[in-house]
Amino acid sequence: MDGGVVNSRASQLAIEGGACGCLTVDLSALCRNYEKLSRMVAPARTAAVVKADSYGLGAKQVSNALYGQGCRHFFVAHFIEALRLKPHLPRDASIFVLNGLLPGNESACVEAGIIPVINSLDQMKQWSETARSLQRRLPAVLQFDTGMSRLGIAPEDRREVSAFLETPSHLDVLFIMSHLASADETDNIQNRDQLAEMRRVADEFPNYDFSFANSGGIFLGEGFHGVLARPGIALYGGAPTSGIANPMEPVVRLEAAVVQTRTVPAGTRVGYGGVHVTKARIRLATIAAGYADGLPRSLSDKGSVYYKGVRLPIVGRVSMDSSTIDISALPEGTLSCGSLVEILGDHQTLEDLARDAGLISYEILTSLGHRFHRQYR
Ligand SMILES: *Cc1c(COP(=O)(O)O)cnc(C)c1O
Repeated sequence: MDGGVVNSRASQLAIEGGACGCLTVDLSALCRNYEKLSRMVAPARTAAVVKADSYGLGAKQVSNALYGQGCRHFFVAHFIEALRLKPHLPRDASIFVLNGLLPGNESACVEAGIIPVINSLDQMKQWSETARSLQRRLPAVLQFDTGMSRLGIAPEDRREVSAFLETPSHLDVLFIMSHLASADETDNIQNRDQLAEMRRVADEFPNYDFSFANSGGIFLGEGFHGVLARPGIALYGGAPTSGIANPMEPVVRLEAAVVQTRTVPAGTRVGYGGVHVTKARIRLATIAAGYADGLPRSLSDKGSVYYKGVRLPIVGRVSMDSSTIDISALPEGTLSCGSLVEILGDHQTLEDLARDAGLISYEILTSLGHRFHRQYR
């Protein structure tokens, strides 16, 4: 039987952890992506955005690998993520909380040695008050809104912030920052407008350097680089710019196990709702990956998986824990219980899957389930 040896080895892998498939994170590809971005922005430094468990790939493993590559600045979104990551990084690594602190978290933040990104005048005053009460200077990053209206100090508050910082303060502002709304679209004029606003902010706060670029921003040119770039998706192999060839190396492979195969005649209903009715006699395989594993339900009757480069369309609705694929394109007997099919890999990129699902690569990554055997290379 073709592929028999590969199949039995692969199925053993899946069975090893009692898992339904294999999620492989290539940490050396991750490090090469970091190197590539670092070279592009040098002499500016390159941070790593490791929020949402490093976009689903494991904040601890990813951060440790990048620390080894020289990365010393790590951004998470929520304070709880910073608390969880802190014990896993050496002391000279800085962890920044992009969403800032919720009221009441100040002393825990001081204790853990985590650096908040200050997004409002009130947060700045609160953090300064915390510092004053402890008779200490506390580090902070100030984020300004340059046109996204999501997070950051509003334009009308800049004068007051500036005045506040001119009086003797307990705040040690490390740098200022802002975030781009359309950096993945090279030709979007919002980039130019936000850069102009970032420059105005930088002029108003001449004592501080700025951090501006996310993954897409790095590719918009030197003007966007500031002193510290903050890539996320590009580190993980996602395309930083839409509409052009992805310059990053893939980091994630995902394979799911076949749990059953069958042959059905024309006119057979497949899956929930019976929405798919077969037009001919076909061979089907049920794979152990569903929407709870990160295979989006919007791939129902639309997406595909691959086996050795052969496209195997998803048939009927994606269920919570399984999906059904048409394996008629393969010689009979190629796949059996325990065989692994490719969801992400050489034949299907993150962007391919996201496009078929009507999603973005970020959603695919951050939805990857926890029932796969995870291996870090
Ligand atoms: C998520 C995020 C990033 C990283 O964005 P990518 O597009 O994944 O590179 C950078 N900065 C801020 C403020 C973010 O919220």
